[in-house]
Amino acid sequence: MGVIDESLKENKAYARRFKLGKLPMPPSRMLAVVACMDARLTIEEMLGLKTGEAHIIRNAGGIVSEDAIRSLIISHHLLGTREFMIINHTDCGMLTFTDDKLRKNLLKKTRTAAVAPLLFHSFSDVWENVRQQIQKVKSHPWVPIDIPVRGFVYDVKTGVLEEVYA
Ligand SMILES: [Zn+2]
Repeated sequence: MGVIDESLKENKAYARRFKLGKLPMPPSRMLAVVACMDARLTIEEMLGLKTGEAHIIRNAGGIVSEDAIRSLIISHHLLGTREFMIINHTDCGMLTFTDDKLRKNLLKKTRTAAVAPLLFHSFSDVWENVRQQIQKVKSHPWVPIDIPVRGFVYDVKTGVLEEVYA
């Protein structure tokens, strides 16, 4: 049995004990988080969040990409979130390659050029990367200036979340 089939089996049990069918769509704690997709990060657990309380937007690196900013804008303007949080972490996979090398490897492996992604957003300094993601959100014309945008580095060895200041 593949992992997807195993997961579907788990879902049957989940649905039997499910009690969250009446939650409203807007996140009750009005928080939106952009975080890395790293499997060692359980965002809800590390922040004490429950289902229905926050939007969690994840991608490789916790990058404020075009798609992440799209989600943040919808999150605030249509669903009422009022604070934005960006979470990167120690030992991130994005520190282990460069865009240029990955692109060359993929071209070699597949022998096919591709129109996208234009960037993989690899980085060499996680703290500086968080600073840049904050700047991208804060400078966006559709993000109100009174929304707190705070960034953090999560330590995968200790579980500690440390704030990144400009
Ligand atoms: Zn990561």
